[in-house]
Amino acid sequence: MENLEQAIAAVKEQFPGMKLLENEPMKAHSSFRIGGPVRALASPSDVTSLTKLCDVLKQHHIAPFILGNGTNILFPDEGLNDLFIISTEKLQKLFLLPDGAIYAEAGVSLARLAAFAQESGLKGLEFAGGIPGTLGGGCIMNAGAYGGELKDAIESVVFLFIPDQSLYELSNADCAFSYRQSYFQKTPGCVVLSAVFRLEQDDPQTIAARMQELSEKRRSKQPLDLPSAGSAFRRPEGHYAAALIEEAGLKGYTIGGAQVSEKHSGFVVNRGDATSHDVYDLMMHVRNTVYRQTGVFLEPEIMILPPDYRLEDNGPQVPRNRISCASEPAGE
Ligand SMILES: Cc1cc2nc3c(=O)[nH]c(=O)nc-3n(C[C@H](O)[C@H](O)[C@H](O)COP(=O)(O)OP(=O)(O)OC[C@H]3O[C@@H](n4cnc5c(N)ncnc54)[C@H](O)[C@@H]3O)c2cc1C
Repeated sequence: MENLEQAIAAVKEQFPGMKLLENEPMKAHSSFRIGGPVRALASPSDVTSLTKLCDVLKQHHIAPFILGNGTNILFPDEGLNDLFIISTEKLQKLFLLPDGAIYAEAGVSLARLAAFAQESGLKGLEFAGGIPGTLGGGCIMNAGAYGGELKDAIESVVFLFIPDQSLYELSNADCAFSYRQSYFQKTPGCVVLSAVFRLEQDDPQTIAARMQELSEKRRSKQPLDLPSAGSAFRRPEGHYAAALIEEAGLKGYTIGGAQVSEKHSGFVVNRGDATSHDVYDLMMHVRNTVYRQTGVFLEPEIMILPPDYRLEDNGPQVPRNRISCASEPAGE
């Protein structure tokens, strides 16, 4: 805690212009609308400031938590008094490269990215139009829907590796994307900064029609009128989580303000006054019941905080193309 307070003081001194919220309720930053105050939430204005901020925190032995759009996280009601969160909300660069590929920074929403691709006459990101997260959060978990995944469109990803404060670029193959999984998720200390997308050309109207179709499908099947974090559980091999939950008789099952959605059993929704404990207890009840009845173990897809990762952990090794070492003075 002492380290954290010193780190916050250093951040204020070295980045006087940076947006820094203290004791900020996380329910305002979570699609679940759940979560108590976090000690500090900073929003660096660009990639350079973000890397410098991580450097300052590292000097104080603070491992930050990176926040995208908060659409896949359950924050605790008690708050996180020992956590420093860095939001990517201001990393918003999005443009076409001279060779026709799309460059996008981590904070760009997947909806904006998909719309940009459509307007540019580039197909392959239609599936992402309805996923409410950011590019960064999407890369972490290889977000996907309706048969498409980010891995099918990404050419390369640039990330900051906090333990050595260096920037790296990984090709698609080295990102180790698989179902809701990536190198970045398995490797603590990675901050996704940007990605390049290589897509094929198509008629913008045709792409728009496909997006519209998927959007209608989503609206008809998912409880978009209630706060949630999307699918609560990963798809177990050979099964569908929603079907297992429904067959276990848990559709509509409620604990406190949390409910297994009546519209889509794969979603846990906040009926208005759900606590993080309600959601957690409900998820555990669902998991135990389904396991007892079918022997299938449901793994949460939602990230449940507080986190459990270590700054010094290097994770699995794949070839990384080092771009630079972030050691210049602070930019903000
Ligand atoms: C209504 C609804 C529908 C959904 N539908 C889908 C769907 O169809 N398909 C699907 O895949 N998902 C879906 N989701 C889940 C969610 O939108 C995705 O997982 C999304 O990719 C999360 O992005 P985010 O920016 O919100 O990440 P966050 O929730 O902010 O973060 C998720 C994780 O990624 C990490 N992270 C975020 N950004 C970075 C970064 N730049 N660098 C390093 N780590 C980072 C966080 O630390 C955290 O561990 C849905 C969610 C909701 C609420």
